[in-house]
Amino acid sequence: MPDASGAAPTTFSALGLLPELLRAVADQGYTEPTPIQAKAVPPILQRRDVMGAAQTGTGKTAGFTLPLLQLLAPHANASPSPARHPVRALILTPTRELAAQVEESVRAYGKYLALRTTVVYGGVDITPQLKTLHAGVDILVATPGRLLDHLHQKSVHLSRVEILVLDEADRMLDMGFIPDIKRILNVLPPQRQNLLFSATFPEEVRRLAKELLRSPVTVEVAPRNAPPDLVSHQVYLTALPRKRALLAQLIRSRDMRQVLVFVRMKRDANRLARQLQHDGLAATAIHSDRTQAEREQALADFKEGKAAVLVATDIAARGLDIEQLPFVVNYELPHTPEDYVHRIGRTGRAGLPGEAISLVSPDEMRYLEDIERLLKRKLPRVSAPDSGAQPAAPREHRPHRGRAGEAGHAKTQSAARPAPPGFDFTKPYEPAAASASPAAHPPAPSLRHRQQRPTAALLGGGPAKREPHKP
Ligand code: AMP
Repeated sequence: MPDASGAAPTTFSALGLLPELLRAVADQGYTEPTPIQAKAVPPILQRRDVMGAAQTGTGKTAGFTLPLLQLLAPHANASPSPARHPVRALILTPTRELAAQVEESVRAYGKYLALRTTVVYGGVDITPQLKTLHAGVDILVATPGRLLDHLHQKSVHLSRVEILVLDEADRMLDMGFIPDIKRILNVLPPQRQNLLFSATFPEEVRRLAKELLRSPVTVEVAPRNAPPDLVSHQVYLTALPRKRALLAQLIRSRDMRQVLVFVRMKRDANRLARQLQHDGLAATAIHSDRTQAEREQALADFKEGKAAVLVATDIAARGLDIEQLPFVVNYELPHTPEDYVHRIGRTGRAGLPGEAISLVSPDEMRYLEDIERLLKRKLPRVSAPDSGAQPAAPREHRPHRGRAGEAGHAKTQSAARPAPPGFDFTKPYEPAAASASPAAHPPAPSLRHRQQRPTAALLGGGPAKREPHKP
């Protein structure tokens, strides 16, 4: 939000944060607020409802957590009495991974304030959660299903909630959580501050936002990830039955030591990981049907380099904080073009180049065209190593076809699935200092460079251990 001079504040102290929060932020090594923080903190501190268009990687968690902690700071107390620690802030997230990450952030930023925080999610024993909740918590981070379990068991009371945060509302929608959220909303006091964050704004999320938010301030930033200059895109046109062999071949011939492979369905994630293992590759899978322990093991294996290949679904990968990942492979294209942007945003981060490789079978051409419309560019087709894939087919002058059933009607770009108003997926997130240098495209990333990269940091400890935010 602009200050009196019309510019967004560029230091944390200019945001008017408490000394306890400034110290915690300094401990994290953050030197300046990211754009979403500069925009979101002031209206949240003014107790306004906020609708934030931002995705993971933009620093949005601190964007809502810091002001939330500040608003609750007057209630901070070290009393052991549960009555002195009613839930005053509720943060809902779609996945357990994101919930755990958000809770870590709340703890890290709130370390100098006597506010209690906990996280509850499903897939793990409920008993320890019951004990913690009974003892009283000020800030509760939860996934909707497990929170409903607690509400049914009356192990948590939400009648004192002052601030509600819905994080990644679009993922909540994808995962079918909107009815659960509505149930939860019913037990919250009507007088409260509401903050909703989402990377995209499909119709249902807009409707939810309209129901939930009162005269909201809208804040938005372009995604930090997917800087077009840093990620090189390659499309291999291939027959469906050849994909698996092509993937194995690419992993070997490109000496990929760390590659995140996306499939659409959970069952395919398991199957592909097993097949790759059969092909002699160290592969593992992560998706929402695996137990918490299995997911953590898969992540740890990938992080430690025991597994070179992590096969993931969009939803499972969304909550991961992955830094410096050299390769992302779309084994199947997503059916929503925005998901392509999210997927490839896993690479090309921290100013390092990355490669996004898509294996595209003929039935997926329409999704490729949707993606190209969204990105407003053609993605280069390349030939498979030692064949196995069809070589590049020049398509530069062909008009876009529509979806099945719309063939023959060349669609204009504006007919593509629209991004939220004012939200440009083609723009990278740029911190103020770097925004003056869009410069020339960097040279194509060399394989040698990538091999020397550090292991991806996947949920690697608390925010304290994470890399400072870089473009
Ligand atoms: P988020 O979008 O909230 O998931 O944050 C993405 C990453 O940016 C996390 O690893 C944060 O620790 C980090 N981060 C958040 N705010 C800042 C900041 N102001 N400066 C540097 N890093 C940050």
